[in-house]
Parts: sequence; C-alpha cells; structure tokens
Amino acid sequence: MGSSGAGGSGAPDRPGVAEGPVSILSCAACGTKNRIRPSTRGVPVCASCKAPLPWLVHATDGTFDVEAAAPVAVVVDLWAPWCAPCRFVAPILEELAREYAGRLKVIKVNVDENPALAQRFQAFSIPTLVVLRDGRVVDRIVGALPKPQLAVRLTPHLLRH
Ligand SMILES: [Zn+2]
Repeated sequence: MGSSGAGGSGAPDRPGVAEGPVSILSCAACGTKNRIRPSTRGVPVCASCKAPLPWLVHATDGTFDVEAAAPVAVVVDLWAPWCAPCRFVAPILEELAREYAGRLKVIKVNVDENPALAQRFQAFSIPTLVVLRDGRVVDRIVGALPKPQLAVRLTPHLLRH
C-alpha cells in the first residue's frame, strides 16, 4: 500500500545515464545497497561513501544491449542453474567484480531463459565467458578457470581509455 507517490517516470538527469533496469549493487566498502541503472559513461559509485561499486548485474534478451553499453570491460557470464562448473565460476566473478570495481562490469545471462543471447554468443558449452570492450568481443573463455588464470586473462582488458 505504499503511498510513496512515485509519480516520477524519471527523465535521466545526467547525460550518459541510459534508461534501463535497476540493479541493486551492494557497496563492498560500507554495505550500502545502491539502486543503479545502466550507464554508458560513468561507473557506479556508492551514494554513501563514493567508493566504486562492484558492478554485477543480470540481463535478459531484452535488457542486454543497454547493460552491455558500458564504458569499461564487460564480462558476460553465460550460465545455467544446472551447470556445476557455472556454480564454480560464479563466486569468482563476484570477487573479481569487487576487486576490479570501477574497471569491470559483469553481466550474468541465464542461457535457458535467454536463448537469443545464448545463440548470439554461441554458448554451446557453458560456462562461456565473453569479454566485451566497447561492444566488441575481445576474448572468449569456455569452461571454468581458477581465479588467478581468469584474472590474467581479464587484466589486459581492464585499462581505462
Ligand atoms: Zn559505500
């Protein structure tokens, strides 16, 4: 029954802030939960302490393109709930999103629910990680890698423009 009077359909008040789905991102520094929409320019920072936020979101066939239009390296995690190696990789990606906050965005895509993306990224075997920079595929990693090897593969793509 919340009479929060949410009349604001909310025109973006900053350039570069795209219309898109809200993701809840928890600040690794202070724990504040932030409501963040996709951005094509800045990286999300915590409303409380201004630390860069671990940028990990879930996307669908419908929301992927606006999420992928990020100004940092994007790792698309093509996964499914029944895939054991995917469950191995998931916490590693969460750690990397924290450690590389401000330089990396992780987009999780459930291939069972999003067949168009599974096909587009040819995720015949999962987990498949696709690394994007400016919307272009710059690396593909098929199968689960331990965290140090994954970090080595990602590091070259994390530089700022
Ligand atoms: Zn914070």
